Amino acid sequence: MKDIKKNIHEIKEKIKNSAVKSKKSSDKIILIGVTKTRSPAEINEAIRSGITDIGENRVQEILDKYDEVIPVRWHMIGHLQTNKVKYIIDKVKMIHSVDSIRLVKEIDKRAGQHNLVMDILVQINIADEDSKFGLMPEELNSFLNHLKDYNHVQVKGLMTVAPFDENPENVRIYFRQMKELFDTYKNSNIFNHNMEYLSMGMTNDFEIAIEEGANMVRIGTAIFGARN
Ligand SMILES: *Cc1c(COP(=O)(O)O)cnc(C)c1O
Repeated sequence: MKDIKKNIHEIKEKIKNSAVKSKKSSDKIILIGVTKTRSPAEINEAIRSGITDIGENRVQEILDKYDEVIPVRWHMIGHLQTNKVKYIIDKVKMIHSVDSIRLVKEIDKRAGQHNLVMDILVQINIADEDSKFGLMPEELNSFLNHLKDYNHVQVKGLMTVAPFDENPENVRIYFRQMKELFDTYKNSNIFNHNMEYLSMGMTNDFEIAIEEGANMVRIGTAIFGARN
């Protein structure tokens, strides 16, 4: 447990250094502690050590831990089934893994029932991997067009999970492509959205992701150690 604090400190230093390389201010970069498989005690230790945002990839884990964790911003970062949206709609600040209109419809409906507007990111399968969720980049335009019809969802940006590679330099190209896609829409005002966040980079590749323009990184292993 005592490593958690030290690990977070080291990660924040690395974030700072990478931000300098990308000529960005590191306080514009949000560190999301990924807490899947971790106990509320470990999570609370991370929060006491400065983590303000946490990410989970399963609905059940959010429900199991929610009441035991010090209040912070929760992010849903894993694939979300439509029939489970109702359980987390009033618990999470943002859903990173939106990749179908069916899911948008359900989020819109449930958010409406709670009289709130849910922040969402559109997940992109940037390397066209069969094993990954997300839209192809060329599908994004029409997807965003459809989103205009829903008043209880607000698009806040894009998210991706890069392919795993021992050498993260090999996935830099995908982060660069994501940034180009992000900028294309950020700078257009055709759509009713607010492209603010580019969520990419994990333990293995977050420094490269930041150098290429990420402003949200999702880090689990480097904070808490290897998962079982
Ligand atoms: C598990 C997970 C992470 C964090 O992975 P680490 O390699 O442990 O940092 C980030 N994003 C998503 C979507 C995840 O499922």
